[in-house]
Amino acid sequence: MKISIVIPAYNELDNIPVVISRIQDVMATLDDYDHEILFVDDGSKDKSLDLLRLLSQKDNRIKYLSFSRNFGHQMALRAGLEHATGDAVISMDADLQHPPEMIPALISKWTEGYEVVYTVREADPNLSFIKKQTSSGFYKIIKYASDIELEEGAADFRLLDRKVIEYLKKFKENDLFLRGIISWIGFKQYKISYKPAERFAGTTKYSMKKMLALASNGITSFTTKPLYLSVLLGFLMFLFAIGFGLAGLYDYWMGQTAIGWTSIIIIIVMIGGIQLIMIGIIGIYLGKMFLEVKQRPSYIIQEESDNER
Ligand code: UDP
Ligand code: MG
Repeated sequence: MKISIVIPAYNELDNIPVVISRIQDVMATLDDYDHEILFVDDGSKDKSLDLLRLLSQKDNRIKYLSFSRNFGHQMALRAGLEHATGDAVISMDADLQHPPEMIPALISKWTEGYEVVYTVREADPNLSFIKKQTSSGFYKIIKYASDIELEEGAADFRLLDRKVIEYLKKFKENDLFLRGIISWIGFKQYKISYKPAERFAGTTKYSMKKMLALASNGITSFTTKPLYLSVLLGFLMFLFAIGFGLAGLYDYWMGQTAIGWTSIIIIIVMIGGIQLIMIGIIGIYLGKMFLEVKQRPSYIIQEESDNER
């Protein structure tokens, strides 16, 4: 049996040797399993690629793909899953926040027959306040707005059986939101919780911008509910208008037709604001369709290790 370990890496030069040695230490304890470690260099600007070239020449179980530019973590992950050849594929981060020592636990659940063994991180006291809030807000919104169950703290540290990988390859959508898809795809799934470690070296490669893009993609990939928001808001506005109209008529009959400047301005601004929000939401979906319709490849690989996969 062969296990593939897929690791997206963006400027992780200092982490790469450490993550490899920790993984190989763990794999050495599992006699029945062969392994490959497949790095996806997401257009790193440091010397990661040089190092990967070197390491893969020395050890034929170390392989890499290198993107022509930074396509983002999700794309790197996807490329890794699509190119991995193992009977099971484990994905994890390069920064050692996902402890390699969990690998035997993931594999043992897989041998029990679970096709998806995913992990959920336990509450991390070291996590910054902003990250905690944005992450929990994100999962709450997804849960509320879409029909998929996405567990809070579920990161991209999981084992997938070959069967699942073969299905993932069939997805044609450009902006694949893997966390959602994995939940959506079904099969027998098992949850393991783990304590995230601190990032070994360097700083986070997930900027606020990348995080917001991921959140927006996660939501708009899985639900069209926000589009219905306009119907609801329109209906509320309508009720409001009836109430306001009745009040106006009452004033008129009572002979107190006041100068209605304030109320008119408030209503204009309010309706204008709501319309802009709704147009924005429609725009997001339209933009997504525009990108999907073009059917561009999701990523471009400029170089691969020549170790046989
Ligand atoms: N990553 C990537 N491309 C990016 C950003 C991040 O491949 O554009 C990788 C990164 O090298 C790491 C993983 O994705 O292996 C998770 O990123 P990071 O640890 O920076 O995120 P955090 O743990 O802070 O959420
Ligand atoms: Mg990290």
